[in-house]
Amino acid sequence: MSQETFGYDEESLRQYFPMERVLEGLFGLIEDLFGVRIERQKGALHAWHKDVRFYRIFEGEALIAGLYVDPYARPGTKNGGAWMNEIRGRDFETREQLPIAVVCCNQKPPRGKAPATMSFYEIATLFHEVGHALQETLTRVDSATCAGISNVEWDAVEIASQFLEQFPYEPTLLRGLSCHVETGKPLPADLAKRVVAKRTYRAGSALVRQLLFAETDLALHAKGFPRKGDTPLALMRRQAKRLLPTALHEDDRFLNAFTHIFAGGYAAGYYSYKWSETLSADIYMRFRGATAAQRRKLGRRVRETLFALGGSRPAAEVFRDLMGRDPDATAILKLEGLVE
Ligand SMILES: [Zn+2]
Repeated sequence: MSQETFGYDEESLRQYFPMERVLEGLFGLIEDLFGVRIERQKGALHAWHKDVRFYRIFEGEALIAGLYVDPYARPGTKNGGAWMNEIRGRDFETREQLPIAVVCCNQKPPRGKAPATMSFYEIATLFHEVGHALQETLTRVDSATCAGISNVEWDAVEIASQFLEQFPYEPTLLRGLSCHVETGKPLPADLAKRVVAKRTYRAGSALVRQLLFAETDLALHAKGFPRKGDTPLALMRRQAKRLLPTALHEDDRFLNAFTHIFAGGYAAGYYSYKWSETLSADIYMRFRGATAAQRRKLGRRVRETLFALGGSRPAAEVFRDLMGRDPDATAILKLEGLVE
């Protein structure tokens, strides 16, 4: 359906995005916006697999952190999906320890002479995970208990990641990440625009669906539920009636498989996805349309607040420090093309 609407096929886009080029563009953006330097370790590396890379992060001449990137899928030995983990946190209280993070992805490995290429989804995912890694590695907090991602409130852990994830949706930046594996040409400008336009495809439906899940989760975990004769499914149907333009299908049993809120650690916390998206969109919207110099200034501000302060202060305070005000919920609606 979306292929017909937008006139391109996701898989064919891969040819424009060799992984090396995407990483180069991503690290170039980070260096420019946040004032650090990222250098790949050359030569032998003692890591858990030969495909793993290691990068050193410098600020001026000072080494401040390390980052492993484990990019490729290894069916049978590596979990699916993508994630960021702390290998060790910054600690200058009990020892002198710089932070080291790892970003794991599951991209297709190179085959023969053909380089590894990335889909747009994989690019956005990589930016997301590296956003987490920046909060972990660019911390200025010396106490391991609240440096980096430690002690960051549950509903704020996705702000840094979702903030960085916005950048590949900029047509100019996206073209900068591209270099066709055969022709060496960048992604054509009109195709870049179509790729980016897809983000607003059915954005309203996706938004109300997330609200339905979030509100159902909160109501299920609220005191007093269930009253006699009520059931979780009936509750979800009532929420759907209030939030969706059409009622849930009578056979809809999504709730039975909604493991996030039963076994996935998101009980009464599923709302945090939309909440941190709201905050990250608000932060990102300041970058949209800003000049290169303004973006650098904004980037340094993000670096000194969102990325630097970790869980040493309440997330709401860090946000106000960065933005100079409380969150504005209309930013996400603008970003998703739901209001002008
Ligand atoms: Zn995340």
